[in-house]
Amino acid sequence: MIAKWLEHFRVRRILKRFPIPHETWHHLMTADPLFHGLSAVEKARLREMATVFLHRKYFKGAQGQVVTSEMGAAISAQAALLVLNLGLDTLDGCNDIIVYPSAFRVRREAHDELGLVRQEDNVLAGESWSYDGPVVLAWDEAEAELSENHPGHNVVLHEFAHKLDMLNGKANGMPPLHAEMNRAVWTQAFSQAFEHLQAQLAHYHNPDINSYAATSPAEFFAVTTEYFFTAPKRLKQHFPGVYEQLKQYYRQDTLHRAQSADSGF
Ligand SMILES: [Zn+2]
Repeated sequence: MIAKWLEHFRVRRILKRFPIPHETWHHLMTADPLFHGLSAVEKARLREMATVFLHRKYFKGAQGQVVTSEMGAAISAQAALLVLNLGLDTLDGCNDIIVYPSAFRVRREAHDELGLVRQEDNVLAGESWSYDGPVVLAWDEAEAELSENHPGHNVVLHEFAHKLDMLNGKANGMPPLHAEMNRAVWTQAFSQAFEHLQAQLAHYHNPDINSYAATSPAEFFAVTTEYFFTAPKRLKQHFPGVYEQLKQYYRQDTLHRAQSADSGF
């Protein structure tokens, strides 16, 4: 009880002493369709969560990138939207956010199916290594997705979705489900969709969603999360079972929200 009271007091103090400026917040909420359709109550909660996130996480620029307060606010607002109905503590394991100016090169050892070790060189827009490791983002990618409309793409949501997935161990495409959810239903919906996407690619068909989702179940969860928030209509149209499970998991109905934003409500 005391701990809860103390946390409440600390949050109040952060909101009072380190607020996100009105202009910055207003610009974010209007410029990015990601936030359209949220109710006034949801927007108020989002702002509180983003403010606390921005204050508590350590933002660090790499390769000369300066992380401005606007950039920090933009990243924080997106992370807060992801966990709006899950709670900020689901992202407690991640304290550092490293921002590169653009896609960065990563060299690491990879083990192939035969167990052989090879050097892999990848150019990435984002990365999250482990539950308590940093989230790494390329700012040009994140910025383009915020200012233009890139349905199906959001590197910030993608990387933090990996963090949620890792709450119950290794990233395997299934975060800890809520008590009212059913593991078998989740598994059925996701594996069916994953196999369908892989079959499309194997037959050189146009994939229903970004082919990167076919890399692994973990990437499938992260990519479908991007669609869930930025292109919910497309996700529901192609993978209704996945949409339904993500709706239950994130406790948000993004398609309903997008439709009510379109109709001016
Ligand atoms: Zn990923």
